[in-house]
Amino acid sequence: MARKILIAGNWKMNKTASEGADLAKAIVVAAGKSTAVEIVVCPPFTALESVSKILEGSDIKLGAQNMHAAASGAFTGETSAGMLRSLFCSYVILGHSERRTYFGETDAIVNQKVLAALKSQLKPILCVGETLAEREGGKAFDVVRTQTIAGLEGVTKEQVVDLVIAYEPVWAIGTGKVATTAQAQEVHGFIRKLLIEKFGEAAQRVRILYGGSMKPDNAPELLAQPDIDGGLIGGAALQAPSFLDLVKAGATAKA
Ligand code: PEP
Repeated sequence: MARKILIAGNWKMNKTASEGADLAKAIVVAAGKSTAVEIVVCPPFTALESVSKILEGSDIKLGAQNMHAAASGAFTGETSAGMLRSLFCSYVILGHSERRTYFGETDAIVNQKVLAALKSQLKPILCVGETLAEREGGKAFDVVRTQTIAGLEGVTKEQVVDLVIAYEPVWAIGTGKVATTAQAQEVHGFIRKLLIEKFGEAAQRVRILYGGSMKPDNAPELLAQPDIDGGLIGGAALQAPSFLDLVKAGATAKA
């Protein structure tokens, strides 16, 4: 089953509204009508509106980096799925390891967010991945299994095709240490098997992205793997040239 490669930029806490608009403009000019690859940019909340305006009329999708599971209410500082939809977000990153580590997000919290996003027609990019200690302790597959199964609790076969999983080994995020192609494909294949067990044939339509120091030089080999369907990019998404090189790598990866 051919799955369209997805290249998503996670800008994290970088770029003001106007800096974000400038970066989005450069991406739209070069790749706004990309058909071979699906492109998503995920600015911080404060730049969603300015970036959304720049993306209007292009094929580039907008994503957020987090959301609250509730539709509205007394949750100071939080943002709901409906608010993200009102700014034309299509995607939302959920369960990023930085949210799990610094903001105490548990699998149960992440799962509530996944369900709320799907209910509001927002596509979750559910992040899973082990720490260095967990990998060295031989627990990588257990951690990935637990996070994947718990994160997808209550998701139906019909819904899962709208969802994206990002395998992000925590030890590779922002460290310059990329997982080897074999390590990454092994975990991606494992996630695919879990999805098949839970969702049957629909699992073949779910995209599994790799994230963790993906750069233009290592992307072609990673993206050529059978179960690597794209990338969730941090550092290299902050400048148009490197992000666009990753888009190019995505376009030729499975050729
Ligand atoms: C990320 O934070 O999702 C990420 C993959 O970051 P980087 O590409 O900088 O490792």
